[in-house]
Amino acid sequence: MQKPKVAFFEFTCCEGCQLTVLSIGEKILDLFGSVDVVNFREASSYKGQDYEIAFIEGSIASSEDIRRVREIRSKAKICIALGACAHLGGVNVIRNFHNQANVRKSVYGDKAWLFDSILAQPIDAVIKVDYVIPECPIDKKEFVRVVSSLLLGKKPFVPDYPVCTECKMKTNVCLYHKKNPIACMGPVTRAGCGAACPSVGNACEGCRGLIPDPNLGALEEVFKEYGVSTEDIMRFYRMYNGLMGVHK
Ligand code: SF4
Ligand code: SF4
Ligand code: SF4
Repeated sequence: MQKPKVAFFEFTCCEGCQLTVLSIGEKILDLFGSVDVVNFREASSYKGQDYEIAFIEGSIASSEDIRRVREIRSKAKICIALGACAHLGGVNVIRNFHNQANVRKSVYGDKAWLFDSILAQPIDAVIKVDYVIPECPIDKKEFVRVVSSLLLGKKPFVPDYPVCTECKMKTNVCLYHKKNPIACMGPVTRAGCGAACPSVGNACEGCRGLIPDPNLGALEEVFKEYGVSTEDIMRFYRMYNGLMGVHK
């Protein structure tokens, strides 16, 4: 039987999610033994143009990105957003809230006119996305689980409950209840990371995106109760979810 052809593509990002795939270890050999990887810049210089499954990392940040991601969509049967940049626009969206001329000047200096850039967007702003592997960077176990499901012809499972659920299951003391409380986006953020950040005393900053129907009003009440300024609330949201309400 012919193995499914799989390709990885990167757009605007740090490529940390592809590195995470490469760092999976022996399990990746089992997984990649069941597929034919035809495009994976970080692992091979071979570039196949024929593939069924495309993992797309990074956000869309130029008109050339739009052209290229559409071309990938036209070839692939299944497109998967790999990581927060592809899923949500990720940290790249922070720049959307600044003056674009200043941003371009600070990045490209007097060569800005040579570079094409648009506001950063998640890939589903441009193409239909079949599945998402959230987080910044992605979780190795989740990647293996999603690929295994796809190979079995099953719909990959991604939790739709909040990080707080996992945090409670780990019996963590809530960061809001610490002697020096820390504001946390766990109540509105999609679980699946095992409450990675609160478990080590850091706030959840929402890198897995929001749960369906998040109660943002209630979260803002809590933020205010704990003295988080409006400016800091905006910073919190913009870290990964600056486009919420615009894209999922
Ligand atoms: S989601 Fe995070 S780790 Fe992955 S490419 Fe974007 S910035 Fe890098
Ligand atoms: S620390 Fe954050 S994730 Fe954990 S229970 Fe409190 S609000 Fe929820
Ligand atoms: S706790 Fe929040 S910010 Fe940390 S990995 Fe999980 S979803 Fe991302």
